Amino acid sequence: MPDDLADLRCEAKTRAGTPCKRKDIYQNGRCKFHGGLSSGAKTAEGKARQLAGYRHWQEKQGMRKDKIAQKNAHNE
Ligand SMILES: [Zn+2]
Repeated sequence: MPDDLADLRCEAKTRAGTPCKRKDIYQNGRCKFHGGLSSGAKTAEGKARQLAGYRHWQEKQGMRKDKIAQKNAHNE
């Protein structure tokens, strides 16, 4: 992190009415409590990519279950 950003604080208004003092901020200048994380895919392309990744993960989970089933069958 560049030196001129080292003292940058989140400074979002907290529920107590004081500025947030967290220094672990993201590129948008806010900490993880004040709007730092991704809100998900915006474009159709991005959503499709996300879904494709999810389907891939689901397949992997299925494969794993098969393996566990095989292992259990072997042990009996
Ligand atoms: Zn904050």
